[in-house]
This record gives sequence, structure tokens and C-alpha cells, in this order.
Amino acid sequence: MVDLKTQYIRLKADIDNAIASVLESAAFIRGPEVRLFEEELQRYLGVRNVISCANGTDALQVALMSLGLKPGDEVITTGFTFIATVEVVELLGLKLVLADVDPSTYNIDIPSVEKAITPRTKAIVPVHLFGQCAPMEPLMTLAERHGISVVEDTAQATGATYSFSDSTAKKAGTIGIIGCTSFFPSKNLGCYGDGGALFTNDDALASLIRGITNHGMKVKYYHETIGVNSRLDTIQAAILRVKLRHLDEFNEARNRVAEFYDNAFNDIDDIKVPHRHPDSTHIFHQYTIRVPAESRDALKEHLENEGIPAMIYYPVPLYMQKAYSHLGYSADDFPVTSMLCNEVLSLPMHSEMTEDQLTYITERVKAFFNNK
Ligand SMILES: *Cc1c(COP(=O)(O)O)cnc(C)c1O
Repeated sequence: MVDLKTQYIRLKADIDNAIASVLESAAFIRGPEVRLFEEELQRYLGVRNVISCANGTDALQVALMSLGLKPGDEVITTGFTFIATVEVVELLGLKLVLADVDPSTYNIDIPSVEKAITPRTKAIVPVHLFGQCAPMEPLMTLAERHGISVVEDTAQATGATYSFSDSTAKKAGTIGIIGCTSFFPSKNLGCYGDGGALFTNDDALASLIRGITNHGMKVKYYHETIGVNSRLDTIQAAILRVKLRHLDEFNEARNRVAEFYDNAFNDIDDIKVPHRHPDSTHIFHQYTIRVPAESRDALKEHLENEGIPAMIYYPVPLYMQKAYSHLGYSADDFPVTSMLCNEVLSLPMHSEMTEDQLTYITERVKAFFNNK
């Protein structure tokens, strides 16, 4: 699905130097590279504060902790996302409320959010799924009207840009009160281990968040809030500094792959290619097609037999997972999510794909539909 090795070989000289300089400095924890990376990412995103942490799941947890939510407060998010988005809500004793998604973008659906809002709703967590921004302008309007905080899960969309109707544009993760991302190796901006970060334009909140990620302390051994231990390693920060310089180029390469797929599939009626919403760029964390439910698993198997990995993100909606059965939802509550889980298939997508690979993959996909 991703080819991290080819990308490493291409960047090897810079990456190896970056790692070697950390080894020589021996500043493994909170070394200068961590702050430098945060500042460089701040500039890239056009946001006042980036606070790094240990992974994307921690970023979401720390974000919800920093908002001072109390047990029983309600948090609305989508049922069509990676489990991390909802896990932290439950772990903090908050009440998880799910909304359905839009069938064309797979992102959170505004009317469904509107229906889920109650006087106890304190936060909404839109997920910029597969690399394209959720409908942030209508969502922010709705949230502001109800006094609700918006925390963006931008783990799959670091580098995507959202355009507002007044023609201003902002980077994913810098629109809500806090943005949360992951630097897991397969993400568009990935390190060589675990990593994550929070973004915010609110300086007071940034200071609180920084404290929470460091055991709730600003001054050593004086603990003002209950915190966690969540740090980005210096070695990972050094790697991310190199990779950040290439992020736009990686995302452009992903877009070229998506265009190749689109063109190859445009005469196959059974394939719906990813929709591009005019308000957002798409950075193709995943290239996810929809096919008729009855052929999806057979297509996946056909591709695997031809040596092509294909993945189902996500096969089971969150509300149908055993761990979340206590929420009391059923498949009919979110008809679009339930349908997508039966129809989606993600094809190999990364910045290093060659035309030969793409030709082979698209021919194998076409052969499946032509021989049916
Ligand atoms: C990857 C991911 C996360 C979690 O990131 P980790 O760094 O693996 O903890 C959260 N939300 C979404 C949507 C993700 O894709």
C-alpha cells in the first residue's frame, strides 16, 4: 500500500545526516530539533502554535483534556474513521455521539451533526478522511451558533487546504480551536516511528496543552493540571524536519497517481472514483473507490492474487464494533456509513509509485470488471 523504503533511499543522505547529528548531540528527549520542527511546521501551516506529542491518538486525548470537558459532556464525531478518534472520548468518560457521513466525500455530514446536537454537546471532532477536508465552513458556523468547540482530526490530511466562500484559505487543522495530527510512518507526513502534534492559534490554550503533554507542569516539578507523558523523540523530529521540506512534493505525486487511476477507470461504470469537493484540496492519504457491494470482496481477492495489495478502510463501522456496542446504535442509524463499509476499497497510494506499477494495477482492475 505504501513504499517507505524507496522514499527513504531517495532522501537517504539528508535523513542519515539528521539522525547522526542527534546521536552525536545525545539530546534524545526535548532536543533542539523538536522545537525547530514545531516552528517549521507552524510556518508551513500558518498557525501560531504547534505542540508535538507522542502520537496522533495522544494529540486527540490531550486536545479533549485541554478543553476542560467533564464526564457526561457530549462529543460528536463520525462513525466512519479510525478507532483512535472515538477511543479517547470514551477513555475520558465523555459521551460519544456519532453522525453519518456524506456519500461522495465520506466526510462528516452537516445535517446529521445538526440532528445530534443537544444542550450537552461540548465538542465536534470532524475527521478529514483520506486526505480531503471535512465541510469546515458550515461546520464552524453551526458550532459557533451553539457555542461548541471544534477539534479537527487531521491525521490523514496534513498539508490539505480548505477554501472559504470569502476566498480565504486555511490549512487543515488550523480552522477549529485545535487540530490534531499523526506522524505515523504511512501518513502523508510520516516519521520512522510514532509521532503526533496539536495545532492552535490560541496562545493560552497552547500553553495549557504544552503543560498537559509534560505531566501537567510548566515549571519543573510543579504540577498545575493532571497531565500525561507524551513527547516527540528528537530523532523523529529531525527526520520530520527533512520530510516537511518535501511534503508538498509528496502530495503532488499522490495527486498524479490519483489522476492516473481516475483516467484509467473512467469507462468502468462499476467504479466510483474519489469525489473532489471544490472547497478542499485532496492530498490522497488514500485513493478509495466505491464498487458494488457484491463485487468488492471478490475484487480485493482478485488483486491480491495478482500481487496487488488493496485494503478496506474501514470494514466495520465503529458503532458495530464489539467494544462500542454499549452505545446502542444499529446499522440503520447511519445508512451511508453502513453502505460505504460494504463498498469501499483503497488501492496502493504513495509518493513513489511508478507508471509501470500503475499500468499493471489499473489493467488488473479493469480485467476484473471486463471478465465478469
Ligand atoms: C492515524 C490516525 C489517528 C491516530 O494516529 P496514531 O499516531 O496512530 O495514534 C487518528 N485519527 C485518524 C483519522 C488516523 O488516521
